[in-house]
Amino acid sequence: MSFLKTQSLKLQVKNLSKIYTRNGTSSHTVLNNINIDVKNGEFVTIVGPSGCGKTTLLNILAGLENSYSGEIHIDGKTVNPLTPDRIVVFQEAALFPWLTVLENVEFGLQIKGISKNERSKIAMHYIEMVQLSKFANAYIHQLSGGMKQRVAIARALALNPSILLMDEPFAALDVKTRTMLHHQLLQIQRNNNKTILFVTHNINEAVYLGDRVIVLSANNGNIKKEFIVDLPRPRSLDHPIIESITHAIIEESKQADFHSDKREDDDEIANTIATAAATI
Ligand code: ADP
Repeated sequence: MSFLKTQSLKLQVKNLSKIYTRNGTSSHTVLNNINIDVKNGEFVTIVGPSGCGKTTLLNILAGLENSYSGEIHIDGKTVNPLTPDRIVVFQEAALFPWLTVLENVEFGLQIKGISKNERSKIAMHYIEMVQLSKFANAYIHQLSGGMKQRVAIARALALNPSILLMDEPFAALDVKTRTMLHHQLLQIQRNNNKTILFVTHNINEAVYLGDRVIVLSANNGNIKKEFIVDLPRPRSLDHPIIESITHAIIEESKQADFHSDKREDDDEIANTIATAAATI
């Protein structure tokens, strides 16, 4: 964490608001005057109940949603929605099934006009990083869910985005695969000093991964609270600080009525905490 103190600001979100209009009449404020500063190399996780605006926020930051009020600055400059310097990795790896792993990772580089030789070199570098070299020539349907997500991460990293935006990228995976990907993602992030914004429903995952966890409000489109996770890596999921912050967010979320959105993972965490408390 301490290295972040010396890092410059990578992303500034200033007074960001988003209102959706329904049927041309009623309006719904999804984000209300959101302010977020993210440092270069910081890993920020975002949690909140379903429908609170997490994906909307990520889509605005990615330039996929351009009607909003407020300002977004990257490296001190107002963002141009059309520049591919923010890349989203989605929950379901949206890969091309008719292309191989290598061709999928090369795809964006080809669009950028990078020569065949150069793009193969870059793509293979990132395929190695996510430990899929043996599968470079495999087709997507031949891969497991975890491997597909690794291809999606390699494809995003190959474009060398200024900020990596991740929208519940591991939600569909089993616990073992998710744990392995957490480890790989953290390693890649540190080795490349990537700035990451990561949306998740899984509060324990948010605390484990994040330098900071932003909790969005259930109803009013605000940031409800932020938690700094000042703990060196590698971390362990059952470290008392991780457990106590997870617990604090769960308590916060009870007040904010996360219940409608409760998932098995959160139950698992609540049970783990209850068991730990009972054995003390
Ligand atoms: P989350 O990712 O936190 O589940 P979303 O950002 O997907 O939430 O959605 C926030 C709110 O905005 C929800 O109430 C959703 O119904 C609404 N919403 C999302 N997209 C649109 C849209 N294109 N038009 C109208 N309402 C939308």
